[in-house]
Amino acid sequence: MPNSKFLKSSFNDRDEYPCPLCRVGKIRHMTLMEAMSCDFCHQIFTADIEQQEIKMPSRQPPLIWRWNGFHWAEAQLEGVKLGWGYIMAALAFIFLPTALMGGIAYHFPLKADAPLTWIPYIWTGLTCFSHFVIIFWLVLEIYQIPVMAYWRAIQQRLISN
Ligand SMILES: [Zn+2]
Repeated sequence: MPNSKFLKSSFNDRDEYPCPLCRVGKIRHMTLMEAMSCDFCHQIFTADIEQQEIKMPSRQPPLIWRWNGFHWAEAQLEGVKLGWGYIMAALAFIFLPTALMGGIAYHFPLKADAPLTWIPYIWTGLTCFSHFVIIFWLVLEIYQIPVMAYWRAIQQRLISN
């Protein structure tokens, strides 16, 4: 760990740092190797002291975190910039089909005595939910957020308390 929580410290591969991936374990230098590994999720990182970065090479393109003197800045994909275009596309993917379904359900209502009049509304909700799940899953996949590692950490904390 850097000496003090309040003093900005530069990144070097001899100290311990919080794992940027699982945020539970600590990463430290591996003996006889030019790499660091996490004692909790066992992920291996390569350190670039000059750039103050660590890279997770086990996926392509690799994920990179930069040490800002206090903590790891948010992950970036090497050579990929996720800009506003992607965010707008993701929002459009969720809300355009939902608006289409909702618009149809609103403008072409079924007769009040028809059976199952609630289906268009349920269907609109399901459209929104399923498209949101797809985007959520994509974000998890892109950033390889270790859901199982978080879950294990929560369980261990519950058991140890
Ligand atoms: Zn970890």
